[in-house]
Amino acid sequence: MQLSITKKNKQGTRPDDSELSFGKKFTDHMFNMDYSPSKGWHNPRIEPFANISLSPATMVLHYGQEIFEGLKAYKTSRKDIQLFRARDSFKRMNRSAKGLCVPEIDIDFIMDCLKELLKIERNWIPETFGTSLYIRPTIIATDAFLGVKASDTYRFFIILSPVGAYYAAGFNPVKILVSDEHVRAVKGGVGEYKTSGNYAASLLASEKATKQGYAQVLWLDGVERKYIEEVGSMNIFFYIGDELVTPELNGSILPGITRYSVLQLARKWGMKVSERKISINEVMNAHKQKTLKEVFGTGTAAVISPVGEIKYRENIITINHGKTGNIALKFNTSITDIQYGKAEDTESWIEKIE
Ligand SMILES: *Cc1c(COP(=O)(O)O)cnc(C)c1O
Repeated sequence: MQLSITKKNKQGTRPDDSELSFGKKFTDHMFNMDYSPSKGWHNPRIEPFANISLSPATMVLHYGQEIFEGLKAYKTSRKDIQLFRARDSFKRMNRSAKGLCVPEIDIDFIMDCLKELLKIERNWIPETFGTSLYIRPTIIATDAFLGVKASDTYRFFIILSPVGAYYAAGFNPVKILVSDEHVRAVKGGVGEYKTSGNYAASLLASEKATKQGYAQVLWLDGVERKYIEEVGSMNIFFYIGDELVTPELNGSILPGITRYSVLQLARKWGMKVSERKISINEVMNAHKQKTLKEVFGTGTAAVISPVGEIKYRENIITINHGKTGNIALKFNTSITDIQYGKAEDTESWIEKIE
């Protein structure tokens, strides 16, 4: 397949690094590619960022047959551009594709197209430590048909958004609320795939948490409402005694790439690490026995997000006096130093552009 490139005449200007937020501003160009049963994936092209025109009957709008990814490119102090675990992201996209009956993509080809796109948008990648270029690959079902079935045709696109430093105001812990009323996903469903419906399903619980002054929802399993799954759209870790615990991937948890990165570093550092079931009662008891030392979420947007308070039913616990712990800090520093080229890429997580 030949990638065609159509450039915009006049390039836009990137806002000042200090004015960037998340996901509001987009770069000049995007990648597009189409799928039909007879041609497979075809017509890969980089072209000016533009609206998509769709029939109101388009399947994705009605039944949510959609998958996406979220990854980032970073600029080092030497102005090199680095992708973090991009291939792992596209591998996960192909897993999601299988789960949602979407045709898979050729990872090597998409990596080449993404690199081309990043070269063209080089000036859109912010430079301050903590800022980055967020990359959103997406596939949508495009048949104009109101029947419930897998679409025959699809559009794959990649859009790019310069994002500000997540911790511009400091690396401060968040307060989270355990929901035992709402669940995010159940085993056998689509919780382990990055697909739109999971996020629509999380909105009501999030709004309720926000109203009570909590930043995120801590999700419990959908069957017993007992075992911890995730926090907001991040994976979660607990440091209890000398054990670092994260819920095992059980079919309803999203397999986060940051989660894998934390596990890999922790094992390399010789920490005691467990991927296992962990109940909310175990966490509340560990707090009572003063063995719960740290709690943090992991995800591409924040890398590490320390948790300072958990509310479960009528009980509120404060973790590490509401302060960021050393373990959270160490993971955050180690991972971001690799992302920004401040530390050697000992784990082969980086792909450089050019
Ligand atoms: C994307 C996502 C994560 C984190 O995955 P990363 O690859 O680390 O960004 C965790 N949970 C949910 C529900 C997600 O959508």
